[in-house]
Amino acid sequence: MTRSTYTGRYAPSPSGDLHLGNLRTALLAWLHARLHQGQFLLRIEDLDTPRVVEGSADQILRDLEWLGLDWDGPVVYQSRRTDLYQAALDELQGQHRVFECFCSRKDIQAAASAPHGKTAVYPGTCARLSRAARMRKRNIKAPAIRVRVDNEKIEFRDQCYGLYQEWLGESCGDFVVKRSDGLFAYQLAVVVDDLEQGVTDVVRGVDLIESTARQIYLAQLLAPQQPPIRYTHVPLLLDPDGRRMAKRDGSASAAQWRESGKTAEALVSQFAGSLGLL
Ligand code: GLU
Repeated sequence: MTRSTYTGRYAPSPSGDLHLGNLRTALLAWLHARLHQGQFLLRIEDLDTPRVVEGSADQILRDLEWLGLDWDGPVVYQSRRTDLYQAALDELQGQHRVFECFCSRKDIQAAASAPHGKTAVYPGTCARLSRAARMRKRNIKAPAIRVRVDNEKIEFRDQCYGLYQEWLGESCGDFVVKRSDGLFAYQLAVVVDDLEQGVTDVVRGVDLIESTARQIYLAQLLAPQQPPIRYTHVPLLLDPDGRRMAKRDGSASAAQWRESGKTAEALVSQFAGSLGLL
């Protein structure tokens, strides 16, 4: 696929019904693409199989159509693209950028003495294991695979939130690209797909801004010749109590909206109002 002037995408995880906040983000991503006469792709991020809810992907497509969104080309499912993620991992391996890690979350938390509840910076425990030590550990536990980070400074200008700078060694350290349960990590898959699908613009919720530096780093390693993706993170829609919406909390969904007898047009109009556009 070639890189056109504007290719955007929406990439939901089928872990339950989209809540109204997800739908507002989808609408913004679609609007941004169409206002730029761009392509708009739809990708179902169904790699994290333990979290996939049966029937959820189909419901997401129906809800997006109900809202009036359309997309170009067939819907892409990450679960059918694992060869691409493996090829990317092989490429990183060829660059001697990855290593096996046997640490549990608890090990890392303890070694990094991170404040409780905060994600610990990986302390480099397995970065330099000898071959013999790795063989021994492999008999006990399946490893995760981490990509090495040398405190690179990653900088990007978010089109909504402005200049963002991050030193990867301080914010996260070497990070996981393949999990110990054998699943490819979101961070790797999203980058491989955005590169392969020729995505030029990512519009998504601001909760993902923390992942962006890692993704830019991976993109630089995997496709240094490709121009950087433009990022636009958008504010999250809060529920009436001012809390962040979450699928697991049963935040209002399109189905609930419909059941209360309201139309898609009324929802679009409510979204426009919430964004100060009315
Ligand atoms: N699949 C991710 C989610 O639903 C979004 C990925 C992305 O937009 O980069 O949270």
